[in-house]
Amino acid sequence: MKITDIKPYPVWVGHRNQMLVKVETDEGLYGWGEAGLSGRELAVTGAVNHYREFLLGRDPLQIGRLWQEMYRSQYFEGGRTLTAAISAIDIALYDILGKALNVPVYQLLGGKQRDHIPCFATTKGGTAEALVEDVRLLLSEGWDCIRTGILHPSSDDKALFEPRASIAPTAAALVAVREALGTDFALGIDYHHRLSVAEAASFCQRMPSGTLDFLEEPIRDEAPEAYEALRALTDVPMAIGEEFASKWQFLPYVERGITQFARVDVCNVGGLTEALKVAGWCEAHYIDLMPHNPLGPVCTAATAHLGAAVPNFSWLEIRRSPTEQMRFYDEEVFPLQPEAHGNRLAIPEGPGLGVDVNEEYIQEQSFAFWEAPHLHRRDGAVTNW
Ligand SMILES: [Mg+2]
Repeated sequence: MKITDIKPYPVWVGHRNQMLVKVETDEGLYGWGEAGLSGRELAVTGAVNHYREFLLGRDPLQIGRLWQEMYRSQYFEGGRTLTAAISAIDIALYDILGKALNVPVYQLLGGKQRDHIPCFATTKGGTAEALVEDVRLLLSEGWDCIRTGILHPSSDDKALFEPRASIAPTAAALVAVREALGTDFALGIDYHHRLSVAEAASFCQRMPSGTLDFLEEPIRDEAPEAYEALRALTDVPMAIGEEFASKWQFLPYVERGITQFARVDVCNVGGLTEALKVAGWCEAHYIDLMPHNPLGPVCTAATAHLGAAVPNFSWLEIRRSPTEQMRFYDEEVFPLQPEAHGNRLAIPEGPGLGVDVNEEYIQEQSFAFWEAPHLHRRDGAVTNW
């Protein structure tokens, strides 16, 4: 079998672009992948087009070999933009291999270890009262792991974010959730790397121990030493890793005990090839995967197969629940996609990933230039989105 085409599709899906990639072969089989950079898709498109130049005519079943060539066969290896492109191609190659062998992708990763994929829901109640009601609704519908978001004083300036001003209302809302609804469910928060070490420590110290089951990405992750300093200042388990673009970026976080959940993103880390290696490494350290999945059905399907095949798994992020309905699961665009039943995702049983894309539809959609919000503090300085 030979690769005959690789097509990048950066398409607008309502609130941002989705970066899909199709790999075609001379035997009529094709695979779909997705890149997870979630912004600056034209750079990923350029990387995919570059890889296409030397992948045409190659055997799509040599997945590990092609990964090594894409990652290593240049002097300046790796990097988030290139690895996002590699991820999409790698996932599409697994889709092709599954279809060629007529088995679901999880079978290629060692077989199924669970009957369904447990998921967590996200809710971003704007006040403590709204958050309590959102969590109450989710609990009543069977969700047992809930991730919340940042509360911040309201402002007419939508680009204003003052990190320290968010700490007290966010901590108070989480304490209110526990006081109102008890401790018989997992509660986490995504701080979207908006704090400094000192701010993150103060945030944690404003809540009784046991309020949070995980704190996701309180600070940026370039410096594991900074996270080690924070690790020493709080007893809250950390959930880190959605931006990591290789197993090597996970290395200090896993080996030094900095993170307690691995937020691996199959569309950023280097596809299923790299995610499986991260999973094995985490297993050796008794760390469960809590995969990042803010994208669409291709990422969801790929991550479901990974989650099915590993022993160390907690919850998959899924962006549809009674408190959140994202447009990127649109059935017109994705006529075949994994089925969700409340907080359980069914493991796809068809050949390949078990997802399909309406290519004609996305060919009619256009790319829209988009940038993540460029946030600033009250004094005008740049702060993280
Ligand atoms: Mg996150």
